[in-house]
Amino acid sequence: MIENLVGFSDKINDPGYEKYRKASKKWSYIFSLILATVAVIGFPIYGAVSGDISFPYSLYYGLGIGGMFVAIAALQDLKRRKDTTWEGKIIDKKIYKKTKLQRVGNRNFRVNYTLYVLKIMREDGKVYSQTYKDNPSIFDYYQIGDRVKHHKAFNIYEKYDKSKDSQILCIACGTFNDIKENHCQRCRLPLLK
Ligand SMILES: [Zn+2]
Repeated sequence: MIENLVGFSDKINDPGYEKYRKASKKWSYIFSLILATVAVIGFPIYGAVSGDISFPYSLYYGLGIGGMFVAIAALQDLKRRKDTTWEGKIIDKKIYKKTKLQRVGNRNFRVNYTLYVLKIMREDGKVYSQTYKDNPSIFDYYQIGDRVKHHKAFNIYEKYDKSKDSQILCIACGTFNDIKENHCQRCRLPLLK
């Protein structure tokens, strides 16, 4: 069978994608609650052991930091809920060589790193950026001029024309799969082709 690798896939309607979205939301809340619990219990213990903060102020700090973790998860959830599916185009690719100072002990070291930046323009003209540090694999997957689709609550863009590719990127977990595969080898979702 010759597959048609040109066009946006309707596999995004597979219930597995909705399940994946729900599961990532659940895990981000569970993770934030674990961090919050550690803060609420940890601050009073730290305060008592070090003598730096007395009770109940140590508890207030813990509640404040803990509340922040939960608030961050709630904001991320809101952002994903408000997100929409749209089509666009890769309009630019840039590579930046950067240097930062990193302190180890009492000495500063210069650390070099590379930023790979993709620019994507939505149909209505709004421009989005995706930045990858020291890892060009996803950056290399797209070429300037590629037609792409952003799917609600997923970061990775689906490519319209996959006919010249030997690999396909899973938009859910970001794993590269052989173009002949039908399901992602890591998360088992149907690949968008
Ligand atoms: Zn996957």
